[in-house]
Formats: sequence, structure tokens, C-alpha cells
Amino acid sequence: MRTPIVAGNWKMNLGNNEAVELARGIAKNCPESGVKVIVAPVSLHLSSVSQALATAPVLLASQNMHWAESGAYTGELAGPMLREFGVRYVILGHSERRQLFGESDELINHKVQSALAQDFRPIICIGETLQEREGGRTRAKVEFQLRAAYAGLNAEQAQRTILAYEPIWAIGTGKTASPEQAQEVHFFLRSVLKDRFDIKTAQALPILYGGSVKPQNFASLISQDDIDGGLVGGASLKVESFLELARIAL
Ligand code: PEP
Repeated sequence: MRTPIVAGNWKMNLGNNEAVELARGIAKNCPESGVKVIVAPVSLHLSSVSQALATAPVLLASQNMHWAESGAYTGELAGPMLREFGVRYVILGHSERRQLFGESDELINHKVQSALAQDFRPIICIGETLQEREGGRTRAKVEFQLRAAYAGLNAEQAQRTILAYEPIWAIGTGKTASPEQAQEVHFFLRSVLKDRFDIKTAQALPILYGGSVKPQNFASLISQDDIDGGLVGGASLKVESFLELARIAL
């Protein structure tokens, strides 16, 4: 049985006070068990958000991480710095990092390996563009990205990751993949994981769906056999909608 996961990616939103308020609101009414709740504020707010979460069962993620543990990398964030604030998860390979900041599959794999070596759990994002979907290339694209991100990993390492299928055409657009469309890709990804690793890994590894998830569409998505939760942008910025997603996942 895979525990459902609801992860909020706050992206480059909210001032510090707003982030603290959101964290407090989530902490106050977050389900105690039955769902893993994760939030990813901007790195600048990790300290205040981790204090606001206090002892609540809410886990912290970073939106990015450099592969080196320290050094001359202006503007970057290292794992040991993130760990000081209780960060356990790192979002890697988000389509915005790939498209806007030129992150390659090789770089993402390097970061995944480094995150695992430093005992973080990477949330690895993959997904196709609208053009690729319309051209019938969804499977080829996600299989390529999955194999590239997991290059060099063994089954034990792979089982410490979380995969997020995020069709790019559904991110921040209000268009969601239908539950059937998402399930089809999630099922396919599990078959690739089985081929690349083994059945145990394929069955243990949580696969999240991301792309305009909101309380109105989440129940039908998470009820699909291979959808284990959501990676959520817009709807994670309000206490009520985010907590509603956590309750739906229970
Ligand atoms: C995301 O950026 O990971 C995401 C899924 O955003 P949204 O929920 O706003 O589409």
C-alpha cells in the first residue's frame, strides 16, 4: 500500500508573512495520518516556514538543489544548507526548471544522484508538451525522461524517490488531464519502472499527478489505481484548498 501524498509547490509566490500565515493555517488543521503532506516554499522562507509548521505533520521540500555540497556556485543552494532547516524532499526536473532555466536530463540525473547520496527524497518531475501529446509522443517522451532521471540508480535508491507526472499543457493552465488520460500514463510509467528495476520497485514507488489539480478534480484523479497523490501549484497557495486536497487523499 502506497501512502497518498499531497505536495504543494509554492513556486516564486508569497511574501514571508504570507508564507508563514499559510504554513500556520496548514499546520493547524492538517490530517495527522493517512496522507503525507509536503510543502515547498521559496528557500528564503524555509526558516520561518519550518518554525511556523512547528511540530505539525507537514514535511518540507526545497524547490531545487545544487548537486555540489558547497563551493563557488553563485546563487545556488546546497543540500547541507537545506537540511539545517529540516528539508527532507527536493523537487527536481520541474518543467519550469527544464524550460526556463535550461536544465538538461543529464543535470537532473546528477542532482537526483546527489540528493539521494545526501539522504533527501527527490520528487522527480516529467511530462510532455501539448505538441508531443498531439503528435502521439507522450509515452516516448516520459519514458525517455524517466530513464534519464534514473540513470545509474539501483532499485533501493529508486524506491527512495517519488515520481511526478506533470503534463506541461496542464500546468497552471486550468486544463487537467482527465483521470483516464493520467491513469494511462501512470500505468505506463509503472511498467517502465518494472522493466528498468523490478516489480517491487514499480509497486512501491509513489507516482503523483500534477497539472491544475484542485479540490473539484482531485477525487477522480486520486481514485485511479496508479495515481498516488498530487503535486500542486496554484491550489497549494490557499489554506482551505490545500487542506481540502489533503482530506480528499485520505
Ligand atoms: C506545478 O507547477 O507543479 C503545478 C502542477 O502547478 P499547477 O497546480 O498550478 O498547475
